[in-house]
Amino acid sequence: MARVALVTGGTRGIGAAISKALKAAGYKVAASYAGNDAAAEKFKAESGIPVYKWDVASFDACAAGVKQVEADLGSVDVLVNNAGITKDTAFHKMTVEQWNAVINTNLGSLFNMTRQVIEGMRARKFGRVISISSINGQKGQFGQVNYSAAKAGDIGFTKALALENAKGGITVNVICPGYINTEMVQAVPKDVLEKNVIPQIPVARLGEPEEIARAVVFLAADDAGFITGSTLTVNGGQYHA
Ligand code: NDP
Repeated sequence: MARVALVTGGTRGIGAAISKALKAAGYKVAASYAGNDAAAEKFKAESGIPVYKWDVASFDACAAGVKQVEADLGSVDVLVNNAGITKDTAFHKMTVEQWNAVINTNLGSLFNMTRQVIEGMRARKFGRVISISSINGQKGQFGQVNYSAAKAGDIGFTKALALENAKGGITVNVICPGYINTEMVQAVPKDVLEKNVIPQIPVARLGEPEEIARAVVFLAADDAGFITGSTLTVNGGQYHA
């Protein structure tokens, strides 16, 4: 029977590519999103993948959302914690709202989501938890103290949870993308991208969302069971932790 995969933030950008790649690989896929109904409906129409709206920063919303997904598709075998946001500003100007929103959405969500599925995975002795961190969680980034802290937290979360579940058929891994061609990066001014960002990437281009999706499908596979607690960089050679 097909395994069930749930991708948070699975309707746009990197998440949409992950959802589609998992479907192409034979998974039953559910994609969650926050509030952009138009993008979600467009994604659903073109991919045939069901979409679910809830805020991954809310534990209770995650509990209700996962319950609905499991009622519709079955128990979640593969969880992809992909949803994320930025609220960039220099730390000395950062508000507590900017700090909390980024920490809760990019790091709190890993607790909120993974906690809903881990007991079922342990009982069934199979699970894949794959989280999308960032190169900026590995090396830090100017204007992103909140985001870098959250994304570095994703890596620690992964290493500890992998240890706790290593004997139970559950793998826990994290992918650190470099600069990927999505709306999040398109928000960076074009001249900054061309003058400051791309020259730092050895392959001399942005990555494509499908190149992150390929790594997710690799880690999700049944025969990837010996890879756990790993941090996989997919960044065009820009940085090696
Ligand atoms: P996008 O902004 O293109 O898409 C983000 C997705 O996450 C959307 O589906 C969005 O839903 C959803 N989302 C955002 N906040 C929430 C929330 N609170 N609850 C539920 N869903 C939410 O992002 P990217 O595809 O660029 O990024 C995906 C992941 O990859 C993020 O974790 C990001 O930090 C990480 N990353 C991205 C890089 C890049 O270069 N793009 C580089 C390194 C890491 P909605 O459509 O409703 O807004």
